[in-house]
Amino acid sequence: TTQDRGPLRIAVLGSGPAGFYTALRAVQKYPNTHVHMYEAQPTPYGLVRYGVAPDHPEVKNCQEKFATLSTHSPSFRFLGNVSIGTDIPLPLLQSAYNAIILSYGASQDRTLGIPGETTLANVVPARDFVGWYNSFPLCANKGPKLSEVEDVVIVGQGNVALDVARVLLSNVDDLRGTDMSEAALEELSRSRVKRVRIVGRRGVCQGAFQIKEVRELMALKNVGFIPPQDLDQLMPSDLSTLPRQQKRLMELMLKGGSAGPVEKTWGMDFCLSPTSFNGDASGRLQSVTFRRNALSPNPFEKDARAVAIEPEETVTMEAQLAFRSIGYKSIPIPSTEQVGLPFNSKNGTIPNQAGRILSSDEEGGKPMPGWYCAGWVKRGPTGVIASTMMDAFDTAETLVSDWVSGKPFLEGEGGWEKVREGMSEEARGKRVVEWEDWRVIEGEERRRGRKISSLEEMLRVVDE
Ligand code: FAD
Repeated sequence: TTQDRGPLRIAVLGSGPAGFYTALRAVQKYPNTHVHMYEAQPTPYGLVRYGVAPDHPEVKNCQEKFATLSTHSPSFRFLGNVSIGTDIPLPLLQSAYNAIILSYGASQDRTLGIPGETTLANVVPARDFVGWYNSFPLCANKGPKLSEVEDVVIVGQGNVALDVARVLLSNVDDLRGTDMSEAALEELSRSRVKRVRIVGRRGVCQGAFQIKEVRELMALKNVGFIPPQDLDQLMPSDLSTLPRQQKRLMELMLKGGSAGPVEKTWGMDFCLSPTSFNGDASGRLQSVTFRRNALSPNPFEKDARAVAIEPEETVTMEAQLAFRSIGYKSIPIPSTEQVGLPFNSKNGTIPNQAGRILSSDEEGGKPMPGWYCAGWVKRGPTGVIASTMMDAFDTAETLVSDWVSGKPFLEGEGGWEKVREGMSEEARGKRVVEWEDWRVIEGEERRRGRKISSLEEMLRVVDE
């Protein structure tokens, strides 16, 4: 094995936790790694900045760790406000580096494909709502009108659904101290939301949420928990037969929320699959209809499946606002096929083995020299930052061990200088936001105590 093979020049595509943790670990394991990190937004950190809820600031502490990359690695460059695939085609990138790490996350939404989903006003992707309260520039105008809403239905029971419910149920004055967008705070202060129901197609034991998030909802002031109606069918007669985590969740559901006066209520409904969003003549949402499911084969196993009850039974819930919160989805970036990269459209992932991209998911798929992936695009859009970190470390270790053991890599040269020269004139006209520029934006945001939610304004602040 060659221990020192000279500088390893890598392009990291996407600056979320996957990109940063891969880069940090690679530099730690092989200090002669030179990182150029490309990011479509002018700002780094991906969903840590634009996904994680504003009332969970402690989750965002990883940003400080990420920022140390600029000191650990003198050759680190952040190249923000450039979109890979459109501003920079992959063949150009390939000609400029030894390795390319795809860590661009999941930029799309999964859909239900049922009537009313795309045609009715007030059926909102949770993704848009989350982007809106987090000042994501592309979601600036996507907030719902809350002054005409009393009943909310959230379809899906992951952590994101619970975040959405918590934001809707919290006292707006408790959110003012966070960096939530001004627009969201204003709309929330006009909110007339009274009841929120979080509906899942399977049972309590199959939940994709963390117990901590349920506890937080239970602890909200002046908010009551309505236990699921059919709770006795969702739990075994003897709770001690359940794994610890599920047992605690069941106990929490039985115990309910804190006592005291109640202004709003929330609940979780299980074993229901949505079949339609129903509107009035003017195209406004009025209710959501669900089909009842049974769980098979064992309703208390984590991997039980939801199957329709025969003959079909339906339930209709009143709602003037509904969220679709059934998950994110990765897609191939433009120009993917030009470099012969595979993509598994069924799972929304890139075929790989320990982060090394394989020519195919089928047996006999071969490693593609110099191409790696990490994060949600590698293993699918599930899991918290800690799980993304573990999988990014796994990718970095594969990368470094391939490099030091003399495996073939890309033979590109020239890095960002070369890439810039090869870009179209139009793409070159965009203002690239480098790390020092981001620092200026960050400084201004700290001063204001809020994020800047317009792209133009961010760029103006940089150039002032
Ligand atoms: P991302 O964080 O999405 O990063 C991908 C980056 O790539 C983005 O910056 C994107 O702009 C960029 N990109 C995309 N396309 C391109 C392109 N063509 N060119 C250049 N750049 C591109 N985890 C927790 O631990 N705690 C929480 O409280 C929590 N809350 C969450 C709330 C929400 C709403 C969501 C969706 C997730 C939450 N998570 C939370 C999970 C956590 O955010 C993910 O595990 C993690 O962000 C995944 O990292 P990633 O780097 O793969 O993707």
